[in-house]
Amino acid sequence: MKLLLATRNAKKLGELRRILAAEGVAGVEVLGLADVEEFPEAPETGATFEENALAKARDAAAATGLPAVADDSGLAVDALNGMPGVLSARWAGRHGDDEANLDLVLGQLADTPDERRGAGFVCAAALVVPGGAETVVRGEWRGTLIRQRKGVHGFGYDPIFVPEGESRTSAELDPAEKDAASHRGRALRAILPHLRALAS
Ligand code: IMP
Repeated sequence: MKLLLATRNAKKLGELRRILAAEGVAGVEVLGLADVEEFPEAPETGATFEENALAKARDAAAATGLPAVADDSGLAVDALNGMPGVLSARWAGRHGDDEANLDLVLGQLADTPDERRGAGFVCAAALVVPGGAETVVRGEWRGTLIRQRKGVHGFGYDPIFVPEGESRTSAELDPAEKDAASHRGRALRAILPHLRALAS
């Protein structure tokens, strides 16, 4: 069975392929957006991670006729009432400027004491089968935000996020450690039973 993961991010493709292999889901060939004919990609305008993931998966399934998985993720900061949330990628005003986004959050939390620096990475993953079922799941990864960057792995807000039960930031974990614990890993694993049912 061909499955489209609606992303151009090679790391996300690799992560889904590794999870499928590790969980023994056979017979699924994971394609990315670069492997299918181009179609117009709508901007992410949803109010929730779930809405954005579902919209991306629906568009991808409708355009290609393939079962499609899409995800949407971000950082929800307790002291910012859950923001940047769905605006995480463009928090400083320009889409994907990780350094500026991180500096802005650090500045906003400068006076926030250590005991109120809780945050969670959130990932919604949606599976849409053309003309068939729609499923949306959510994975969360709780932690706290430190005051200075540490670590070189990962991306986005990883250098300031210390997951619960860890002393290292998620940018200091190696990719396999991060996959095993992360919001995205949790969401992708939660969608596996649905993929397994589809593949069989
Ligand atoms: P997207 O869902 O891949 O578009 O991610 C949205 C934004 O959320 C990214 O640009 C990052 O700023 C942030 N984000 C999502 N997941 C992670 C993560 O695992 N580490 C660090 N930042 C993340």
